[in-house]
Amino acid sequence: MNVIVIGSGINGLVSAAELALKGHAVTVLERLDRPGGAVRTEALTLPGFRHDVAAMNLSMFAGSGFHKTHAATLATHGLEFVPVNRPFASVFPGGDYFGVSMDLQETLATIPDPDDQAAWKAGLEAFPGKAGALVSLLSARMTKGGLTKAGWQVLRSQGVEGTLDLLKLLVSSPRNWVEQTFRDPRLHAALATWGLHLDFAPDISGGAIFPFLESFAGQAMGMVIGKGGADTVTRALVKVIESRGGQVRCSAEVTRIDVQAGVVKGVVLAGGESLPADRVIANVAPGLLMRLLSGQTTDRRFDRGMKDFRHAPGTMMIHLALSDLPNWQAGALRKFAYVHIGPTLNDLSRTYQQAMAGLLPDAPVLVVGQPTVFDPSRAPEGQHTLWVQVRCLPAEIRGDAAGQIQGRHWADIKEAYADRVIAQIEQYAPGLAGQVLGRHVVSPLDLEAENPNLVGGDQVCGSHHLSQNFLFRPVRGFADGHTPVKGLFMVGAAVWPGGGTGAGSGFMVAQDLR
Ligand SMILES: Cc1cc2nc3c(=O)[nH]c(=O)nc-3n(C[C@H](O)[C@H](O)[C@H](O)COP(=O)(O)OP(=O)(O)OC[C@H]3O[C@@H](n4cnc5c(N)ncnc54)[C@H](O)[C@@H]3O)c2cc1C
Repeated sequence: MNVIVIGSGINGLVSAAELALKGHAVTVLERLDRPGGAVRTEALTLPGFRHDVAAMNLSMFAGSGFHKTHAATLATHGLEFVPVNRPFASVFPGGDYFGVSMDLQETLATIPDPDDQAAWKAGLEAFPGKAGALVSLLSARMTKGGLTKAGWQVLRSQGVEGTLDLLKLLVSSPRNWVEQTFRDPRLHAALATWGLHLDFAPDISGGAIFPFLESFAGQAMGMVIGKGGADTVTRALVKVIESRGGQVRCSAEVTRIDVQAGVVKGVVLAGGESLPADRVIANVAPGLLMRLLSGQTTDRRFDRGMKDFRHAPGTMMIHLALSDLPNWQAGALRKFAYVHIGPTLNDLSRTYQQAMAGLLPDAPVLVVGQPTVFDPSRAPEGQHTLWVQVRCLPAEIRGDAAGQIQGRHWADIKEAYADRVIAQIEQYAPGLAGQVLGRHVVSPLDLEAENPNLVGGDQVCGSHHLSQNFLFRPVRGFADGHTPVKGLFMVGAAVWPGGGTGAGSGFMVAQDLR
């Protein structure tokens, strides 16, 4: 079978690698001059400083079905992870912090309330059973058969009561879960921040699962990042594809999918070159896929659903080359991979509301990544990189919640907004600005310009709110990646099981391809 994959994001590469390993002829076409989509590492600031352009935390890939199946092959082709034993922390005014370390006593030492300590230990104890059931659901195919099988597995492992408890967790908001589990408002904010890695503000139903999983998985298993950079995954996947005779062609933008009588025939590249194919796998956002199909298929409901697909608010990335790690007032924070800044649940809610109203948040929620704590190979000796993710931001600016920035175009104001972010970090790590050797600011619109899947800088290619998740992602009836066009399939963050480096859609579609 001759298969073309449009786009070399992690799902495109995983589907291509799986098919190449099965002996199919595979060509991946990538519009940029380098592969990887959101999983790339580049010297964005100064020579010798390697920055993860987007994804830094590779735990989802490490725990994915694809990785579990092909770990040895990937390792042969150079895949290397670095384990992280202190995955995340949150900092609070006055230098106080809560931090999750794989050493349970170390975590408990940052939880002052004895009831909360007991709740953390109880949550950790119950975690393996609940996580197993959740993972079988989160990796299920969204078909009648897949759902029935997953439902049965959950019922068998959890019983009726446990299944209903799990269902409640599935539909809970982050605030529901954190307030019903812990007493300390600091813990509420610290754990609910994980919801904002997607687009779950504290009060949005369906947002509790990610905070639940990240909190206790962080405690039980830590995190992993890529050795030398997240692109260790991309480089290994490209090598697997090429070792089986497949090709990854960069600077090859697909402008049209050729469909005749409802059957895919191939693709057309910018410049006019036509490439025939028996199957086409599109690793592109729903709106983009419809454009490549000239706006319609034979299924009106599919077309409508794809056009109505909703994106989440944007993200800014600030990459810093530093002379030293930030001087956190709480010195222990120099040992954590992520430091979250978003001290109260109200801060999280306000950031989301301001972004949704088109306002630049006055004090956005920040994820401050310190990869060189665990992987010093990414910077010259003694120096560091900082990976700062700014959540959540509007793509179109209608105003500034702080009333200070006048511009309305990201190109004009991104540096000023990055200054606000640095000043915000300095409240907890004084002197940061003086440690900066190089800085690279990526606005939400820059993210989209580089990768059109990240519409408006939406880092997970589509809201994961309940109405657009599970069997509704991207459109009910098509969550398994098939389309109304025979031989055309879709993978990527917009397709169930959604965003992140888990590559679930890429693996499932490739496994099912006939
Ligand atoms: C800033 C940021 C930080 C993130 N951090 C994390 C993290 O720490 N951990 C985590 O698990 N996840 C993280 N994510 C999410 C995760 O990285 C993404 O959800 C995932 O990598 C998306 O993969 P994808 O398969 O959808 O493809 P994408 O990464 O969207 O790649 C698609 C590729 O297709 C190409 N393409 C598009 N159109 C065409 C065309 N017409 N012709 C040819 N090529 C085309 C694009 O150029 C791109 O290279 C982050 C995302 C972002 C943006």
